[in-house]
Amino acid sequence: MAIIPVPQLSDNYAYLVVDDQTNQCGVVDCAEADKVLAEVNRRQLRLVAVLPTHWHFDHVGGNQDLVRAIPGLRVYGARGEHGRIPAQTHEVDDGDTVEVGTLKGRVIGIPAHTNGHIAYYFPQLNSVFTGDTLFIAGCGRVFEGRAQTMVDSLAKLAALPDSTRVYCGHEYTEKNLRFALTLEPNNPALKSKYEWAKAVRAEGKYTIPSTIGDEKQFNPFLRIDSPELRTNLKKLVPTLSDDAVAVFAKVRELKDRF
Ligand code: ZN
Ligand code: FE
Repeated sequence: MAIIPVPQLSDNYAYLVVDDQTNQCGVVDCAEADKVLAEVNRRQLRLVAVLPTHWHFDHVGGNQDLVRAIPGLRVYGARGEHGRIPAQTHEVDDGDTVEVGTLKGRVIGIPAHTNGHIAYYFPQLNSVFTGDTLFIAGCGRVFEGRAQTMVDSLAKLAALPDSTRVYCGHEYTEKNLRFALTLEPNNPALKSKYEWAKAVRAEGKYTIPSTIGDEKQFNPFLRIDSPELRTNLKKLVPTLSDDAVAVFAKVRELKDRF
């Protein structure tokens, strides 16, 4: 069993989800079909399913080309995206199951970046694909929901086992960590993750995956209750209330401008 990242565009990741028993694979979030198909062929796999996390073009731009290359390909799409997933063949919703050979993935509805944004959680791989909702040390912009929507969606992901590996949609880690340090400069887990990420990126390597447990240690959007984070926020915004959603919204707003 394996998960293989395939870089896309400038900083996107597609992922091959490989079932070793059948040599079938699925692809999470394909922007550029040629690169994905090259990796599929190089590893002598059979691509059977496309698993988009949301409708944005950098996550589905390759769907039509994939379907042209592989007739009969299954293309999942969340009901909440209202048909905006190109070449969609199978509609899914929160709680549904997707299949890649013998692997089963649970669809988790995590709206806010888009209304129909979903994650795919594969217990057999101890892994979750979080698209543009949970990044390493960050979260996605709230485009189609409210702050409360994103808080609820992140809580659903945070409820997965701490050991769950997190595969996200973009390589934003280093910048996310730099922002996080402005709010929690004395968080030791955050400081060491930043040093690690800088070294990894300097070598041109990927910072994925993270884990749910690790994210709770340094991701500011999962650390809305941190006393250090709240103290530093109040220095910036003395009128800020103690309400968790208000704190989240302020952190998100600061990150939007970072
Ligand atoms: Zn997006
Ligand atoms: Fe994206």
